[in-house]
Amino acid sequence: MKKCTTRRLDKVPPSGIRKFFDLISSMEGVISMGVGEPDFATPWHITEAAIHSLEQGFTMYTSNAGMLELRQELSAYLKRTYDLDYDPDTELLITSGVSEGLDLAVRAIIDPGNEVIMPDPAYVAYPACVLFADGVPVQVPTYCENDFRLPASDVEAAITPKTKAILIGYPANPTGAVMEMERLAEIADVARRRKLLVISDEIYNLLVYDMEPTCFACLPGMKDHTIMLGGFSKAYAMTGWRIGYAAARHEIIAAMTKIHQYAALCAPTMGQIAAIEALRSGEPEAKRMIEEYDRRRRVIVKGLNDMGLDCFEPRGAFYAFPSIRSTGMSSEEFAESLLMEEKVAVVPGTAFGKCGEGHVRCCYATSMSNIEEALNRMARFVHKHRPG
Ligand code: PLP
Repeated sequence: MKKCTTRRLDKVPPSGIRKFFDLISSMEGVISMGVGEPDFATPWHITEAAIHSLEQGFTMYTSNAGMLELRQELSAYLKRTYDLDYDPDTELLITSGVSEGLDLAVRAIIDPGNEVIMPDPAYVAYPACVLFADGVPVQVPTYCENDFRLPASDVEAAITPKTKAILIGYPANPTGAVMEMERLAEIADVARRRKLLVISDEIYNLLVYDMEPTCFACLPGMKDHTIMLGGFSKAYAMTGWRIGYAAARHEIIAAMTKIHQYAALCAPTMGQIAAIEALRSGEPEAKRMIEEYDRRRRVIVKGLNDMGLDCFEPRGAFYAFPSIRSTGMSSEEFAESLLMEEKVAVVPGTAFGKCGEGHVRCCYATSMSNIEEALNRMARFVHKHRPG
């Protein structure tokens, strides 16, 4: 039979994370540190605001760009948090999560064959959405020895005449790595000199431990050259509401809105109402959740190191990314055997790029008792498989 789907799709492998979830769903008694989402329910006052709007029959489309009230609230939030001025009418777009924002940003700026530089390992959607836009992802290796930071010199070395943008996301999924403002400034310097746009995925920007949140667009001269993507999924435990935003200069937001208005029309109305409430009064709960993630982070990092799986200190997001090299197994072997033998689900580092080999991603957005039991099971597993 004639092939009915586009060849473009063949360049993108199925998500290595999905494969694992399918396996897990067929098993009982699994402790999952696989899914990258908060285990908390959305704070009740946020849910209640959305319920109230439904009771009032507020179930229509909103404007393509998102409710003006939300864009105004967002503009005020970006001003008070980062001292950045974004015009709610022309420089902000409400999207269905950062996922849609990422897809729109890439499609708005990439012509076929354009290259986009990104770190390896990185969030699975980064290379995929560039390939879907007929662009070329250029993955720059990052290493545990360097705390998985992206060196500006390596970014510069990867630039060719076809390079259009740099795509970064710090704090990072899957490593939990952060880039301090001084390091981001080095990337900004490269972008400025080489006239490249920067797509900065800041979905985890509030989830940082022992440091202040970072913001790429705050760097001198970068606001107009940055597409900032932000969201509500992680910090406010709102993954299912599907709300995110893009902040960029007018010309870019207009291009992204053009795609969005045909492909999505608008982000979910109920989610937009919830996002307004989150911005107005969600901060205390977000802080409480972050404190709890921090407690779990310390327990998991210590537990992994104690069992002989070297784990660098993640300073953001809610992932630990230990090395499993001491077991002599590959990432895939480790994750599959751990699931089969001890019913603990972690994601092989290779799901996030070649440089993820030798590591697994453990999401600690799960209860402390789950983390403690998972660590017991993992220690037993590592002991059993210790070479020699
Ligand atoms: N960016 C990163 C780095 C992520 O880890 C995720 C989800 O795991 C997303 C974006 C998607 O976020 P959203 O729920 O806003 O679509």
